[in-house]
Amino acid sequence: MARAIGIEAARREVLARVRPTAVEEVGLDLALGRHLAVDAVAAGPFQPFDNSAMDGFAVRAEDVAGASADSPVALEVVDESRAGHPAGRALGPGEAIAISTGAVLPDGADAVVRVEDTERERDRAERFDPAASLRDGAYGPGGERVLVAVAAPLGANVRRAGEDISAGETVVRAGMELGPAELGALATIGLDPAPVRRRPRVAVVTSGDELTAPGRALGPGGIRDSNSLTVPALARLAGAEVVSVDWTADEPEATRAALGRALEANVAIVCGGVSVGEHDYVKAALAELGAEEVFWRVKLKPGGPTWFGTRGDTLAFGLPGNPVSVMVTFLTFVRPALIAMAGGDPATRRTTARLGAAYEKPTDRAHAVRCRLELDEHGWVAWPLPRQGSHVLTSMLAADALALVPAESAVMEAGETVEVELLDRNTMGR
Ligand code: AMP
Ligand code: MG
Repeated sequence: MARAIGIEAARREVLARVRPTAVEEVGLDLALGRHLAVDAVAAGPFQPFDNSAMDGFAVRAEDVAGASADSPVALEVVDESRAGHPAGRALGPGEAIAISTGAVLPDGADAVVRVEDTERERDRAERFDPAASLRDGAYGPGGERVLVAVAAPLGANVRRAGEDISAGETVVRAGMELGPAELGALATIGLDPAPVRRRPRVAVVTSGDELTAPGRALGPGGIRDSNSLTVPALARLAGAEVVSVDWTADEPEATRAALGRALEANVAIVCGGVSVGEHDYVKAALAELGAEEVFWRVKLKPGGPTWFGTRGDTLAFGLPGNPVSVMVTFLTFVRPALIAMAGGDPATRRTTARLGAAYEKPTDRAHAVRCRLELDEHGWVAWPLPRQGSHVLTSMLAADALALVPAESAVMEAGETVEVELLDRNTMGR
């Protein structure tokens, strides 16, 4: 019997054979969850110009240096700078330009006084609302005088060009997964469409004479094919495009035909039929189709009978058919490959937590323990779910993570730190 490989070594073997997918240009509106293929570098600064942080008046700090509520400084309002509509002239001594938040700071101005700290001279007695006046565009050439009731130090309420992003800055690095903030940042620097890695193309094959499509009535000895839903869903959540979901009977010819088609994808995943039963034809079919074995059997429970090999750049996984084993082995070996293939970092799905309860096991292999994650005052706690059988799919329903208890651990006490592989439940628009 082939010697089983440890799970970390198995993962390394898989990742060492990953070839990143090709680069394609995708509009930002469709790029959620993709991985950027290049460093995104800003051509210019953001914001592109000095601008106002407040609604108010652009002034020269020296003009209002002595202003106070008791002795306001009167300035002539000579123009207006609105968002998207810069003022038509520069600011001179003794002048103010009405300005709104985000609007260009006029030449000659070096500070902004908040509208709340001003009063329009003409309307002083009438409780005039300068904010309304600003909004309605009442200020203009030859207009009003404004009374400034506070001093404004140099640069007050001014946002400098490039405070957020400077010219030449790398805003999003190659390999980053594009979430809302990354998409916003790319939009800000005008990188649309963006070069991202293609979604890895995944073909799924389920195998077994006992399997019936979920919508069909069951025959004698039949069960419903749940892996045909579970595995494609896992693949999509990992950023893949599922190009086919096929089923094959436990029969050599049919198995070979189905796997032959699946090996055309970037990643072929066959579920079940990979073990050593008399009617398990998957390994033989893969060998006949020219797929070369890298490992067979891993020191993992559930998920021991896992096969991995390659044909050219295609990765082929033979996963055990048990509904839980298939999910565990997918998350442990296939998902890292899919993320890496799309240019991402599989380690982003790994973290640590403290075990909520002691866990005991033999020291022959690692256990992937389905856990619920709960936050306490010290951080995340992984609580093993009660029913850990590899056939108990319902035990996955409440699971947030797999706690990876190493092969050599006989017992992990409550409170000990354990590595966890996070399940992704969100759909990221896929
Ligand atoms: P196998 O790996 O083919 O020996 O299957 C192991 C166990 O998983 C058996 O109980 C199968 O009936 C079950 N099984 C295999 N494939 C599926 C599937 N696609 N959906 C649900 N159960 C399956
Ligand atoms: Mg089978």
